[in-house]
Amino acid sequence: MTRFLHPYPPGVFITGLGHDVTLFVSRYLDIRSLGAMRTGGRTGDRYVAAVLSRRLRELVRDFVDDAEGHFIEELHQTNSVVGSLAAAHFLHPLDCRAPSILAIFAPEKQWFHVVAYLVHVEQCHVKIELQQLNARRSKGERVAILTSSRGKINVVQSRWASPLEPIMNCWQSALYAYVTPTSFCDPYHELTRRKRGLINPRKVFPGLGIPTGQVARLISKWSRRGWDLVQQAEDWGGSPGCGTPEARYCAGTQRYFGDKFCLTGVIAPVEARDVGRLPYNALEEYTVLWWRGGETCGPTCHSGDTEISSAVRVYPTNVLRMGTLDQFDYITDMFVYPIALLQIDQ
Ligand SMILES: [Zn+2]
Repeated sequence: MTRFLHPYPPGVFITGLGHDVTLFVSRYLDIRSLGAMRTGGRTGDRYVAAVLSRRLRELVRDFVDDAEGHFIEELHQTNSVVGSLAAAHFLHPLDCRAPSILAIFAPEKQWFHVVAYLVHVEQCHVKIELQQLNARRSKGERVAILTSSRGKINVVQSRWASPLEPIMNCWQSALYAYVTPTSFCDPYHELTRRKRGLINPRKVFPGLGIPTGQVARLISKWSRRGWDLVQQAEDWGGSPGCGTPEARYCAGTQRYFGDKFCLTGVIAPVEARDVGRLPYNALEEYTVLWWRGGETCGPTCHSGDTEISSAVRVYPTNVLRMGTLDQFDYITDMFVYPIALLQIDQ
């Protein structure tokens, strides 16, 4: 099945560069550069769609016997997303190395479908684990660890109809991005392209400001690759200053997948945007809102609190688009509990 593989436009795309050279260069362009290429008109749009659709295929090809794209179709039909380092590498191939494990995030009720697909079609061996989420030792999330001769795939089960909620358990902001067969979203793309990352406050022992052992090891590993990882944006100098553009990194700023700070886009060219449109798409129905938590940026931030807890909540996308973020304080509590009732029984 190849409906998510978009063809290259005919002819030479960049005058003066041969097709082979253009192909070589475009393999390493990050998502923002590809976005700029896309503005070059219809040919640019089709070229970028061809690059991105092949990039996704090449990414999963290392992990599954996927010559016909069936696994990509499986991701699409189950509203599952590629996340963590695999998504970061897809969006920033030079800044984020290729993953050794493919991380898939699946909606609660589709999780088993993805796992069963990998066991029966890809002949993977499966082990189910409950992973501890944070330093507070709260309830874990269910992860299927699938191994085959090709490699390892982790399929993380969301507790909601949206697959996105467990993405916010990743240890740093570069890993909060996701990719699907039709779209992508990167909430902290400006940091990632500068090899900067904000450490998830839930991976730090509360009150101590010390990362957990596993995260401390990851920090030193990534630092050796030139990454600058901190707990708060102020550690890079200056202040996020609530109310300034930098406030997007503040501990209390409410963000959601698809907000104005995210780099969000589709893979298909304009003429193929309806390819694979689903009658029900959890990624369109729901999004995930969060605030990072941790130390605030000062006495003027968040009613003067010096430290606030992080939060991740699933919302119907339409609710978030109804108004500005400022209004969410008011609607948050109202919507926390009914969401469970709104989950569609599929
Ligand atoms: Zn602040």
